[in-house]
Amino acid sequence: MKIIKSVSEFREAYKNADKPLGLVPTMGFLHEGHMSLVRRARDENATVAVSIFVNPTQFGPNEDLLDYPRDMESDLAMLGNAGVDLVFAPSANEIYPPGFDTQVDVGSIGSRLEGEHRPGHFKGVATVVCKLLAIVRPDRCYFGQKDAQQCLVIQRLNADLNLGAEIVVCPTIREPDGLALSSRNINLNPDERKASLVLYQALGKAKDMLESGEKDAEEIRGAMRRIIEHEPLAEIDYVSVADPFTLEELNEISGEALALMAVRIGKTRLIDNMMI
Ligand code: AMP
Repeated sequence: MKIIKSVSEFREAYKNADKPLGLVPTMGFLHEGHMSLVRRARDENATVAVSIFVNPTQFGPNEDLLDYPRDMESDLAMLGNAGVDLVFAPSANEIYPPGFDTQVDVGSIGSRLEGEHRPGHFKGVATVVCKLLAIVRPDRCYFGQKDAQQCLVIQRLNADLNLGAEIVVCPTIREPDGLALSSRNINLNPDERKASLVLYQALGKAKDMLESGEKDAEEIRGAMRRIIEHEPLAEIDYVSVADPFTLEELNEISGEALALMAVRIGKTRLIDNMMI
């Protein structure tokens, strides 16, 4: 496994890489959610590249950039065991050298929900993914459904700017009790870890209601909110039942809908979603 820190070194490695090449972009502190993407990429490509980059531009001024968990040694061991060929782990200066001044803004899909609650977040995500696609030039690029809106933003970006990668969306990996795996889960204390189950419970409730014939999306949002509000350690950022392609809030549900939420458990902000 080759560990590469600079863009020029990656270009060199790319020339000799067997194709197709699959890329899994991550911010590190890897868990089974990330590794499910890596394994899928390993199955489908001759060469697998994983990027590890905690992208400063997708964090707001009062967010957890400095506290974001990191463990490069363990990450590299996991990726080595999974048969990854190339790890791209650039510094912030390599990605944003002095004078850097271009941003990619993905319009309406990037402005709702997470976009509304984390201004500038998707601009940071879209810009860094655009750069990673330009540097790595993968045939396929792998993302997790856990970050459903991010997947939609990147599909839009990839189509609109003709970036030419196949965007592969992989299912959310959960703990046995339903909590979606996330690097941020490490920050939950035991009480908060218990409280975090309200996210999955609320999503389950949404699914049950729809399956029992409830078509009024506001009724479903209300029931989800009540479950979360019942937990004293939980504070809602948003709860949504939206069109799975546009993320516009639904009134009446006629086909598939996506239930999404962002909830603060203590200082830790968790997101989750489920197709219902
Ligand atoms: P992150 O390191 O949090 O930026 O995540 C890197 C990639 O892993 C993103 O495409 C995430 O959607 C994906 N991912 C994170 N957690 C999970 C999970 N629990 N299940 C599936 N994919 C995940």
